[in-house]
Amino acid sequence: MTTTAAPPITRVPNYVNGEWRESNSADWQDVVNPATGEVLASVPLSSGAEVAQTIEAAAAAFPAWRRTPPEDRIQPLFKLKQLLEEHLAELARIITLENGKTLAESKAELRRAIENVEVACGIPMMMQGYNLEDVARGIDETMIRQPVGVVAAITPFNFPGMIPFWFLPYAIACGNTLVLKPSERVPLTMRYAFELLAQTGLPKGVVNLVNGGKQAVDTLLDHPKVRAISFVGSTPIAKYIYARAGENGKRAQCQGGAKNHVIVLPDADMKMATQIISDSAFGCAGQRCLAVSVAVTVGEAQKTFRDAITESAASLRVGNGLDEGVQMGPVITQQSKSRVKSLIERGANEGAKVLLDGRSATLRNSEKGNFVSPTVLDALPPNSELTDTEIFGPVLSLVHARDLDEALAFLESSAYGNQASAGNIGINIGVAAPMAYFPFSGWKDSFFGVQHAQGRDAVEFYTEKKVVVERWAAEHSRKF
Ligand code: NAD
Repeated sequence: MTTTAAPPITRVPNYVNGEWRESNSADWQDVVNPATGEVLASVPLSSGAEVAQTIEAAAAAFPAWRRTPPEDRIQPLFKLKQLLEEHLAELARIITLENGKTLAESKAELRRAIENVEVACGIPMMMQGYNLEDVARGIDETMIRQPVGVVAAITPFNFPGMIPFWFLPYAIACGNTLVLKPSERVPLTMRYAFELLAQTGLPKGVVNLVNGGKQAVDTLLDHPKVRAISFVGSTPIAKYIYARAGENGKRAQCQGGAKNHVIVLPDADMKMATQIISDSAFGCAGQRCLAVSVAVTVGEAQKTFRDAITESAASLRVGNGLDEGVQMGPVITQQSKSRVKSLIERGANEGAKVLLDGRSATLRNSEKGNFVSPTVLDALPPNSELTDTEIFGPVLSLVHARDLDEALAFLESSAYGNQASAGNIGINIGVAAPMAYFPFSGWKDSFFGVQHAQGRDAVEFYTEKKVVVERWAAEHSRKF
């Protein structure tokens, strides 16, 4: 009998100053496939000193990069777009392996990543300032945009391919140099994306990748050469990052967690409403910051929607996202699975009726996977703590309102404002995911900052405005 040796566990390197470097950290953690429990790689929690060296590399690259014409700065992005298209299948597979979502979901998030690269190729126009002749006699004024310097992006586990690209293409196209710290739970996607970035002709030090956790983040927040912080993750960490960046005089855009509502009106097209709400609540195993997690039914919709959504949720095929036909994958970790299950239990204890219970999901050949099946809770008391707790799992709560005003008042009472209750509104849309040329507009406890990610907001965030006021000597005045 032959035994097959287990493949060596990859030690994920950092990418600093145009080269791959193995971290000398003493602290490493496993990257685990959430569908199988298999260890895919080992990721370093890089030390403060390593992160500081990375920042210095980005700072050293900045003066030459910021003076590189915008037209030249976007050429590597055109190459990146091409490489991402060519390697989309490999990248999607890596996302599914480390995050658990289905291959179709992984491909969809990569499409969004690529759109951001495409939009950032318009920087020579998007970065333009404005001017006015004769602001006073013989005096003109011009506003120009300049890059801010070294910028850092800190990203979450749920979109390993898309979210770093809400920032990277705009930051560098505007002339900044970047340090990216992806989630330590899903470092392999950016490891691969940086292999592609390394082939684009970007000068050394313009993009850098550092793996780590809190210590790495704190170094980015405290280092004087980092001028701007882009963050996406949970609300408590977003608040922490916003405060600490502010204390250190850095600009920050921090996108936090969410609790998203959808209102189902009695005259809705119930077939379509069920389909899109089911996709929204259970797609990516409910681990989308725009996932609907509370459906507020109005009037007659209570019964029709309740029956239809329960049937639709029960029909979803749960399993390993790599398998054909699977519609929903696992949640990210065992801890996440336990947390989601205990929140379902809390809802039930508070009086909710569990119409569909995903707690006992055991799937063939996937005993070690972090599976929770779709769950529908009905009649959650409106004052339940759960109505405003981000579950981040495949759980949809149903709440009933007598009329639209009551439903709207319920939405407005939420502390969050990611989708439907404030910044991103979907009308007959399950996931109001914005396109790259629009901002990603969370409000309230879902966002701390002024400029959002993507599009024109990204250009505002990654540039300083400078005005030049110019007096014309009388003899030269207005020869053109
Ligand atoms: P998280 O807050 O745990 O981690 C996000 C990042 O912060 C990671 O890179 C992590 O290493 C770092 N981090 C974690 N703890 C830290 C600490 N104590 N100090 C400094 N840095 C720390 O979030 P997550 O679990 O990876 O992602 C899920 C969350 O992200 C959900 O709340 C979801 O709603 C939110 N999210 C929001 C948006 C949005 O656009 N608003 C988009 C995607 C995800």
